Amino acid sequence: MTKDLNDKEILKVAEKILLNYKLCDYCLGRVFAKIDTKMTNKEKGEILRKNLKKYKKIDAKNCWLCSGILSEIKHFVDITYKALKKYEYDTFLIGSKIDEEILEKEQNLLNFAESDFSESIKLRNYKLKTINVKLGLIPGISISFS
Ligand SMILES: [Zn+2]
Repeated sequence: MTKDLNDKEILKVAEKILLNYKLCDYCLGRVFAKIDTKMTNKEKGEILRKNLKKYKKIDAKNCWLCSGILSEIKHFVDITYKALKKYEYDTFLIGSKIDEEILEKEQNLLNFAESDFSESIKLRNYKLKTINVKLGLIPGISISFS
């Protein structure tokens, strides 16, 4: 990809989105997920908002799309860790199901944005990947992605 987050076309799409949807940085960034994959989607959202200058940060809890679910990773790690204490295992990998309502809203947003760089919350599943990685950092727990 040759585009970056300061590209005129990219900023035009980001502006169109922000004029019509109240999105947190995670969700805004995910529309441009395939640009500069070294950055997290949250960082991309923050940079786009900064480059556009006039759009205030939206607290994830007030996000039209995710209602803050993406900012509750620590909470998910805690409840998963507590639930796992009851079991014996060598390795494990957890899965999740995204609410139909969120998937429909996302589809609506992606159709509107017409971005060639977007990634679905379902495919990337940032939240789940992060939960698995964070749980894997707890001594005595190993995660198997295979
Ligand atoms: Zn969001």
